[in-house]
Amino acid sequence: MANQDFLNEINKRRTFAIISHPDAGKTTITEKVLLFGNALQRAGTVKGKKSGQHAKSDWMEMEKERGISVTTSVMQFPYSECLVNLLDTPGHEDFSEDTYRTLTAVDSCLMVIDAAKGVEARTIKLMEVTRLRDTPIITFMNKLDRDTRDPIDLLDEVESVLNIKCAPITWPIGMGKEFKGIYHLLRDETVLYSTGQGHTIQERRVIKGLDNPELDAAVGVYAGELREMLELVKGASHEFNLAEFIAGELTPVFFGTAMGNFGVDHMLDGLVEWAPSPQGRETDQGSVQAKDEKFSGFVFKIQANMDPKHRDRIAFCRIVSGKYQKGMKMHQSRIGKDVRISDALTFFAGDREVLDEAYAGDIIGLHNHGSIQIGDTFTSGDKFRFAGIPNFAPELFKRIRLRDPLKQKQLLKGLIQLSEEGAVQVFRPLQNNDLIVGAVGVLQFDVVVARLKGEYNVDALYEHINVATARWIYGKDERKVDEFQRKAEANLALDGGDNLTYIAPTMVNLSLAQERYPDIEFHQTREH
Ligand code: GDP
Repeated sequence: MANQDFLNEINKRRTFAIISHPDAGKTTITEKVLLFGNALQRAGTVKGKKSGQHAKSDWMEMEKERGISVTTSVMQFPYSECLVNLLDTPGHEDFSEDTYRTLTAVDSCLMVIDAAKGVEARTIKLMEVTRLRDTPIITFMNKLDRDTRDPIDLLDEVESVLNIKCAPITWPIGMGKEFKGIYHLLRDETVLYSTGQGHTIQERRVIKGLDNPELDAAVGVYAGELREMLELVKGASHEFNLAEFIAGELTPVFFGTAMGNFGVDHMLDGLVEWAPSPQGRETDQGSVQAKDEKFSGFVFKIQANMDPKHRDRIAFCRIVSGKYQKGMKMHQSRIGKDVRISDALTFFAGDREVLDEAYAGDIIGLHNHGSIQIGDTFTSGDKFRFAGIPNFAPELFKRIRLRDPLKQKQLLKGLIQLSEEGAVQVFRPLQNNDLIVGAVGVLQFDVVVARLKGEYNVDALYEHINVATARWIYGKDERKVDEFQRKAEANLALDGGDNLTYIAPTMVNLSLAQERYPDIEFHQTREH
């Protein structure tokens, strides 16, 4: 039987990500969440937005200029009796592939909605992704210090557009300049809002009971309105139900303002109370449970040059089961090798440090010297591999060329390292020396050129190339694959991980090839 201390460590962990449309307030909420977690004394240093404390590469500058976030970082902090891991997801839709993989590494999500705008395009897309694993969703309606839409309309919209039941846990009193606070339906208490306290944790005034005359004294006519409204809300919305929440069918909804640091704590209280502790994952040999004592984990992200001073590459590994201990031996399933790891990292609001131990649900950073790929499984000896962490076939292609031809080696190295991160893919045709960059979104092309310059000192430019799509090649019969490779060589290339890919100039060409070689499988995604 697993020992109690070990089980307690697992039970107290919560691993989640924030999903939202750009500008809804994800960064601001992250700051406040960390403030509550005592991770920051004064909120306002996430992403190094104002502080200038954190090293910024050109690429981060670019991210700032465009107001988007292209990195995924991980933050761990204590809250209440729990230990919370928050994974940041890239905000721009060009990076959906990266986001997709990050969402495979969490057990619940916080959905942040700008209450003035309601459900926006990016939120819809991200919800589709969380549906693939029925991830439990908590909702935060943000920016109540502004004039927002009617709260009932907002819930209706979430229910009809996102197809999830809403259970309001708090209800706003007034909005904009007249925002007075919230009533907590489960605690039967009103928490009053006061402005100008966004950077600190303040004692808020709490009034017990809905019929308390103190409430009338504090918020005036809004007290009567609130009582009437709640009658309506209770009739029209759903009551919170834990099983439905865990199944991803119902979302508890909180109202507040991240900027005013109001309501974020109610949401966090809900998260630690209801969100699931670390969940198991499927492998090619059955499922693995978090409470299995044997260590296992998978890599969902690789990031190069996180720290420009060190020029290193970090593989982010979600621990699925058991415990990491400094100096332990890990088995890397894909290459069938054992490695001893004594310098795994933990992350903490932009900083990182070597850690001694970590448990299921945690994210650890492994130094990658080129041998780790996205999707890799690490175990304490078992040979299984985790399933379901794909690469998607790119849809946009360009030929990349050097301004200074002497730097070909650097260019290739940079491209392969950037492709290991999974945000962009590189293809090397078998018959010529072209380098083809494939991406899922347009913005990635700019990011690659900026990073090649900033991190590899390579000046590169793009040229048009006639490629419509790419497919990864598989085949059960090796002889048939060899034959295919000979006959179709003009259309074949190796990707960054040396996997054989078919590069099709047109979709018609692709379907002809598929007809001609029925024994060859052309895959749109590559499972790692
Ligand atoms: P992200 O793009 O989702 O990370 O959004 P940010 O956290 O960067 O917020 C976008 C903008 O909305 C910023 O100018 C924030 O200051 C502002 N903002 C965030 N939360 C609130 C809020 O509760 N009230 C108001 N009025 N503005 C907010």
